[in-house]
Amino acid sequence: MNYRIFSCLLFMPDNEIDETDCCGNGCTNCILDNDNKPKPSKLALLAGKRNVILSYTNFRLISNKTHNGDAQIRLLHFVYAATTEDEDGDDDTILDIPPGHHVMLRAQLTDHATPLLRPYSPYWTDFAGKEFKILVKLQPDGAMSGFLSALQPLQVLQFRGPIGNYVHDTSSAKCIVIIAQGVAIAPTMPLVSQVLDNEDDINRIRHLICAQDLQHVYFRERLLEFAQYWNYHSCLYLTHQECTCSSNGREHPCEHLRKQLRYKEAAHTGRLDAKQLASQVLPQEESIIVIVAGHSSFQRHMREVAVNALNVTDDNIFLL
Ligand SMILES: Cc1cc2nc3c(=O)[nH]c(=O)nc-3n(C[C@H](O)[C@H](O)[C@H](O)COP(=O)(O)OP(=O)(O)OC[C@H]3O[C@@H](n4cnc5c(N)ncnc54)[C@H](O)[C@@H]3O)c2cc1C
Repeated sequence: MNYRIFSCLLFMPDNEIDETDCCGNGCTNCILDNDNKPKPSKLALLAGKRNVILSYTNFRLISNKTHNGDAQIRLLHFVYAATTEDEDGDDDTILDIPPGHHVMLRAQLTDHATPLLRPYSPYWTDFAGKEFKILVKLQPDGAMSGFLSALQPLQVLQFRGPIGNYVHDTSSAKCIVIIAQGVAIAPTMPLVSQVLDNEDDINRIRHLICAQDLQHVYFRERLLEFAQYWNYHSCLYLTHQECTCSSNGREHPCEHLRKQLRYKEAAHTGRLDAKQLASQVLPQEESIIVIVAGHSSFQRHMREVAVNALNVTDDNIFLL
């Protein structure tokens, strides 16, 4: 074993997990399951570096901005808060949050006896700069939401991760169907980028985005950039897109919605159902995997829809 990798393992920070590390939100990939707990990633080991986020670590807020002109939707950008030890010595750390993994935020709120834990899924990470960004939908009366809405640049929060078990396989060409609901589009963005950014990756992506209406589709500009690639295709499923036009649901999408779509954007009004899902995949497609990001009830429903529509086995369905 390479000495740097070995020394990295020896001096790994304490990342023991116990019952108090669970946020209690019923995450599909709970931190208490052995497969999901934070562990040194292959990338960190190859670089001979320590992943700073394996145990709770301080990150400083760089910015707290609204997205799509909606005050309830925030883009939060964090950077590792270097210690004096880091600044004095050689920098032997990186930040690795693999696509599809989430991190746990721990915050001590003034009116809570114990720290509050909530999971969030980064949509962007900088490995060497040790920065990451999350998209947050503030919940009315939500404990963490209230705290995050008032967060100011330079404030320091603690995060730990990466939590999850999805590993992208480049060994054979597949059709990767990625289904995202609302803000849970966030963890699907790096999944798409990792395929498109690698010229040798010949996997094909079907990105199916379920949102209330066009106003609630996040990262629309980035989706249009993805659409330049031969192996990427997306479709928006808008459940409550309102229109007073005379088409009355007979035309999908109606003329007014079509006018609001950009070049290469496809949209349907209504839910993503088995028929729609089957129509997204070519009949001759041999190898299909399905990734679902969203609320746990949405994930369970979409898993059933995928089994019926695409004839995929449970082993080929990944819930984030
Ligand atoms: C694996 C995982 C990853 C996640 N990633 C993200 C992320 O990237 N961005 C993000 O914004 N959220 C994400 N969440 C949800 C997030 O962890 C919190 O649940 C959310 O921010 C609300 O926390 P809170 O303390 O403000 O609300 P709470 O005090 O927990 O709840 C307040 C009220 O809001 C309702 N509520 C809570 N969450 C939701 C919801 N998702 N939809 C509808 N109603 C809800 C509750 O039922 C309650 O009535 C993720 C959840 C999981 C399981």
